[in-house]
Amino acid sequence: MTTQSTASTLLCIYCDGPGPFSGEHVISAGLGSDDDRFLLVDMVCRRCNTDVFGNLEREVLRSSPIAIARAFMQPHGRDRGKHTTTPGIQAQHKQMATASGYPDEVDFGMHAKPIVLSQLKMIGEKKLKSSTASLDELRSFVTSLSTMLQDNQVICIRKRGPEHELRYEAITMLRSNKTFTQAGGASFQAKPPRGGLWLERYDETRTRGVNPAATIFKNLNGGIVLKTSSATVEDALNFFACAVEQISFDVQVTTDIENPILSMGMTVTIGVIERVLAKIGINLLAYYLGRDYVTDPSFRQVKDSILTGIPRLGGHIVEDAPITGMLNAAPDNHHVFFLSKVSQPGGRAAIIMIAKLYGVAQSMPLALDVPEPHLPLPVFFLVDYLNNEVKQRSLIEYAESLVEMGITKEQARYGSSA
Ligand SMILES: [Zn+2]
Repeated sequence: MTTQSTASTLLCIYCDGPGPFSGEHVISAGLGSDDDRFLLVDMVCRRCNTDVFGNLEREVLRSSPIAIARAFMQPHGRDRGKHTTTPGIQAQHKQMATASGYPDEVDFGMHAKPIVLSQLKMIGEKKLKSSTASLDELRSFVTSLSTMLQDNQVICIRKRGPEHELRYEAITMLRSNKTFTQAGGASFQAKPPRGGLWLERYDETRTRGVNPAATIFKNLNGGIVLKTSSATVEDALNFFACAVEQISFDVQVTTDIENPILSMGMTVTIGVIERVLAKIGINLLAYYLGRDYVTDPSFRQVKDSILTGIPRLGGHIVEDAPITGMLNAAPDNHHVFFLSKVSQPGGRAAIIMIAKLYGVAQSMPLALDVPEPHLPLPVFFLVDYLNNEVKQRSLIEYAESLVEMGITKEQARYGSSA
């Protein structure tokens, strides 16, 4: 949702820039709070919203410990109607140990259920192994693979550069006399060519030689990936092009996977979770107390930390029993954000936010010396992340809702007939 500001005097509450502005979800939409009643309008400029916060949120939601919790607990991402998807995890590798010793490439479905991707492995120079979730999928994978590899040219794509400024290196492989050779140099492009073969490498430093020479597999989004360790891309292409002509589907072996051993490699940038949480805190203050409150100069430092990561924000896991007790009393499938204050002499206050996300509570000091708020704190924001709904509650309302819920739980337990 984008709105153009009409008032020229308004400045972005984060960078003091003149806009243009865009609608900012008070609580990040991807956390299951895609609720248009909780939007900041004409407060956050498009640059802060898209360039800074968009990248931070993408990293936290797809490639951090929160991403893992989210994949397990939240069945749907942002509310995009029929295009709504399952939250995904982005990682350098997602593998499952197998009895053969060679890891399978996997991905995660709803509630982070591991799915074995359809794949062919090159073991040594001659041996072929296959894994799949179902024989039909393997068949369809081999069909698309043979279409791709019987062609006289294959465009290979490598991702280059950091995740937020990705570029794509495209290499053309030509096939003649059943042998692939690279044609010309690589070209770099901002967008990947369609229908290409993605190239990846096994991380040899981590696994010390238990990898296949190469694996070719199909991602959940349909993309085909060639991942190599000891084999060159050319050798692997020659091998798999030959293998797809000879593969037989006569032998069907199915094994149920119990207690799979999964391995995942993820790069987490220090401080991103804190920056996203502090941003949600400032957004909540702006929503609850208004733009004038958060544009007080005493918020400058926390905003700089959110925008640049410097200085680093504090924040720690909450283990204090009364607070965790109160947070745990919230209904299932809800995040809880609560803002509280500690009054200081001279009409000043310290503001602290506690956020319980996917069951883990963290506290985040937002500002140590800011004006005393003109509305009562604490205030609670509950996010029903199954239904993309945000609810604001005063302390009394929150307490009452817990009592009501307690009664409902009792009724559920003993039946309401009595
Ligand atoms: Zn801005």
